Amino acid sequence: MNRTANDAGLPMVESRHIDRQAYPSGVAYMDGQYLPMSEAKISILDWGFLHSDATYDTVHVWNGRFFRLDLHLDRFFGSVEKLRMTLPFDRNQVAEILHNCTVLSGHRAAYVEMICTRGVSPTFSRDPRDAVNRFMAFAIPFGSVANKEQMQRGLNIAISDKVRIPPSSVDPAIKNYHWLDLVRGLFDGYDRNAETALLVDINGNVAEGPGFNVFAVKEGRLTTPASGVLPGITRRTVFDLCQRLGLSVAATDVSTAALREADEVFITSTAGGIMPVTTIDGGKVGDGRVGPVTTQLTELYWQMHEDPEWSTPVRYPARAG
Ligand code: PLP
Repeated sequence: MNRTANDAGLPMVESRHIDRQAYPSGVAYMDGQYLPMSEAKISILDWGFLHSDATYDTVHVWNGRFFRLDLHLDRFFGSVEKLRMTLPFDRNQVAEILHNCTVLSGHRAAYVEMICTRGVSPTFSRDPRDAVNRFMAFAIPFGSVANKEQMQRGLNIAISDKVRIPPSSVDPAIKNYHWLDLVRGLFDGYDRNAETALLVDINGNVAEGPGFNVFAVKEGRLTTPASGVLPGITRRTVFDLCQRLGLSVAATDVSTAALREADEVFITSTAGGIMPVTTIDGGKVGDGRVGPVTTQLTELYWQMHEDPEWSTPVRYPARAG
């Protein structure tokens, strides 16, 4: 018999109310089914939840087109292999599931995530090899690190002294949910009236932030941290754009001083693209306005989303009538 919290004399929480607030509109794939987001649930005994033993990737759909889906699939399958997980689907099948989630959600601007968790060990053993790996995916509305106003005036960011988990502990190329360092950094930022934060690497150089890479522009040359960061696909797209424009760009050590003294700073993420930073720890970046290099790259970045060389259309069904 199912006993409710009420039967046990505990206070009841209106669960439907929580569901409505917690789930954006969208469609998830799980265990062979496409479900509304509010019905896509996993066991709390999944290693993904208990130990952050999971990997994921997020691709976005913009104006009804996936952006650089191949690179996201490469990174996802690479992460799964490095974590010694097995997927029940091949690359084409995963692409098909992401496509179906997007079509069923109806979103033309979407944040589309694929996840593999270690899963649950049938006997609750402590051996990860016993766990049955689990694949899931979902499509929800597109979200951005920076809102419209922040895109116009530039973000106000803090550099936290929290150290991003070093590559000797977790290979940053495996996209992961080890975010406690990033979340602690965020709170440092909020305490200093900043909107988001950057963490440093073990040598005190700038690393990355919660869900984004960072670039500095000095005298027309771009630099971005080389190690201890996720090799972001937006970051890579900036390299591709710089090549096209003949701009100098290098992955190297970026000191906190170099970042503060830059003419322009921007962050990059699938969640928002190229986003300007105009304040660091209360001080202005350059003249405190969004700079010309950032503006040009941002415009070209969004133009690439219409170009079949970089994007693939979602096959939405024709509208009736
Ligand atoms: N760094 C971290 C820690 C991230 O989680 C992300 C994206 O979620 C990025 C960087 C940016 O990567 P991408 O441009 O592939 O979205």
